[in-house]
Amino acid sequence: MTNELRKDYLLDRWVVLSVQRKQRPTDFVKKKEEKREGVCPFCPGNEHMTPPAVLFYLSSEEGVRKDRDRNKIRNRNWLVRCVPNLYPVFSPPNGNKSESKGVNTPVRALGHHEILIESPKHDEHPGVARPSQLVHVVNAYLDRLRFLSAKTHVKYVSIFRNHGREAGASLSHAHTQIIALPFVPRVQKEELVTSRNAWTKKEECVFCSILQRERKSPRFIWEDEKFIAFAPWAGVHLFEFWIIPKKHQSTLLDITPNEVPVLAKFLRVCFGGLKSLLNDPPYNFGFHIAPTELERNFYHWHIEVYPKLTIWAGLEKSNGVFVNTVMPEEAAKMLRKAFQREETQLQKGDLKAS
Ligand SMILES: [Zn+2]
Ligand SMILES: [Zn+2]
Ligand SMILES: [Zn+2]
Repeated sequence: MTNELRKDYLLDRWVVLSVQRKQRPTDFVKKKEEKREGVCPFCPGNEHMTPPAVLFYLSSEEGVRKDRDRNKIRNRNWLVRCVPNLYPVFSPPNGNKSESKGVNTPVRALGHHEILIESPKHDEHPGVARPSQLVHVVNAYLDRLRFLSAKTHVKYVSIFRNHGREAGASLSHAHTQIIALPFVPRVQKEELVTSRNAWTKKEECVFCSILQRERKSPRFIWEDEKFIAFAPWAGVHLFEFWIIPKKHQSTLLDITPNEVPVLAKFLRVCFGGLKSLLNDPPYNFGFHIAPTELERNFYHWHIEVYPKLTIWAGLEKSNGVFVNTVMPEEAAKMLRKAFQREETQLQKGDLKAS
C-alpha cells in the first residue's frame, strides 16, 4: 500500500497514514500493567487527604445542592467533588505585587489547577459510569468553567482527562483535571486563527462545515439529535475521534440544561465503546473551547479524544510530523460497531456500573 499524506483541517500539521496490513481491533490491545496503589486520596472517607473542596454536590430533597468546604471541615457524602491539586502546575495569585517583567525575569505560573473527582466510586470512569453520574460531571465542568473564566488573570480554561498510567494518570480514581491558564495555548490559538480567517473570507464557521462534511463521510462514527462523533481526516493518534455539538456553539458554556443529559449519555456511549473495542485503553481527552465572546461566530467547541496506543519518537518529537498506522476511515468503522453495541446495551439498561 502507498502511504498517504494528510494535513489537519486547521493546524499546519501533517500526518503520514502508513498501513502495513489488514488490521483487527485485537492488534491494538495493550497488555495491562499490574499496578499497586496505596490508599486512594479521592475515595470517600479520605477527604482529609486533599485540600478543602472548592465545590461539591450533595443530593438533597430539592435536588442537587452545591457547596464548598469551609473552616477546615471536609464534607462527606458528595456526588462529585472538586479540589485544588496538591501539586499544582499553575497556582493562584498570592496577593504579592506583580513581578517586574524584564528580560529573563522569572514569570510565575499564575492560574488554577483543580481536580474534579467524578464519582465517590473509585472505578466509575466515563466508559462504565451511570449516565446520571455523568450529568453531575458535566454540570461540575460548567460550574468550574464559569467560575474560573470570569477571573481577569485567566485567559483559557483547559478541561482534560488522563486515563490510565501510560496516558499520565498517576491515580486511578475517576477524575478530570481543570487548569486555568494565563494565556491561550498554542494549539487552540492556531485553531482560532484559522477559523477566524475562514469566517472573514466566507462568513461561515469552519467547524460547522467540517461536521456537515464528515457526517456523510466514511469517517463518521456516531450521532444523536445533538452531538456527532467522527474520526478526524488527519488524526495523528490511532483511533482518534472528536465529539462536537451539531448546533453552532462556541464554548461548552453555551450548552442548555436540556442538552447536559444528552451529552452525558453521548459520552457514555463513546467511552464505553472505546473501552470495549480496545480493552480499556489509556487515553487523553480535552475540551477545545472559545476563550472569550469575541470568537462566538467562528469558533465551535469540541472534545478531542486521543487513545494512547503508540510511542512518539524522533520524527514526531523533533519535527511535529506524525505517523498513524490506522486509517481514520478504518478506525471509524470499528468504533462505529463498538458504539452501536454500547448504545444497545445501554438501552437494555445493562449499565455494568460497579
Ligand atoms: Zn478512589
Ligand atoms: Zn460552528
Ligand atoms: Zn481542536
